[in-house]
Amino acid sequence: MKRLIQVLMIAAVLTGCQQPVEEDPVTDPPEEAREDNSEPEQEHPELEGEQETREVEESDMPEVSYQINQANWTVEPVTDEEEQVVLLTIDDAPDKHSVAMAETLKKLDKQAIFFINGHFLADEGGKEKLKSIYEMGFEIGNHTMNHANLSDLSADEQRQEIVALNDLIEEVTGERPRFFRPPFGVNTETSAAVVEEEEMIAMNWTYGYDWEADYQEAEALAEIMVQTPYLTNGANLLMHDRQWTLEALPSIINGLEEDGYGFVDPAAIE
Ligand SMILES: [Zn+2]
Repeated sequence: MKRLIQVLMIAAVLTGCQQPVEEDPVTDPPEEAREDNSEPEQEHPELEGEQETREVEESDMPEVSYQINQANWTVEPVTDEEEQVVLLTIDDAPDKHSVAMAETLKKLDKQAIFFINGHFLADEGGKEKLKSIYEMGFEIGNHTMNHANLSDLSADEQRQEIVALNDLIEEVTGERPRFFRPPFGVNTETSAAVVEEEEMIAMNWTYGYDWEADYQEAEALAEIMVQTPYLTNGANLLMHDRQWTLEALPSIINGLEEDGYGFVDPAAIE
């Protein structure tokens, strides 16, 4: 991982740090399909000899660096150009379906951030699930210990909700999360301060539907996730550990690809 981060930082220096603040409202999906971000497998001799238990492949090495636009939570390349990409995120993990979702994504060669809640790690089974998602190479995010609305808690309690989960995740995976998403999208002054101290990147999302009654079924969910007017370049897609979302995942990904969208590797977000 360290190597990867070094390479990323070099890439960041090379590409500069300009931040486009452009916002792209509802757009029709362009007809021309874009290339996926993933690179064919290549030999990277400089990486050989690394002791990696995690399945982070050379092909995962991103070439473009991204950042989260804190105004609308989209993902933007640090260069000026727009990219037709989306970010996949899965919240409330690892409950019942996260491992199967990770396996599905892996099969489709797509990356995602799994946002973890501490209450799912109370037993060994939960920790094992987190471990296998991490070992499949997925990025792990902090979604708080107990999924409380942070604005209802004292500053100390909020800190505990975030930092204790980072400690716990590190205990299981050996790595502290780089990403934070507050339950219900409620950020507070304290959460912002803790996120900074913990050197995390905070994000809410652009759209999601799997908690709405009309979309708790795979076909309807797959359709709205691709046809929604909120699908834009850099859209941050919110999904959850749910049966119908697991079932819809391949169709969602195929639909986005057919419309020309690529998928951001969270490792390339800085
Ligand atoms: Zn949640």
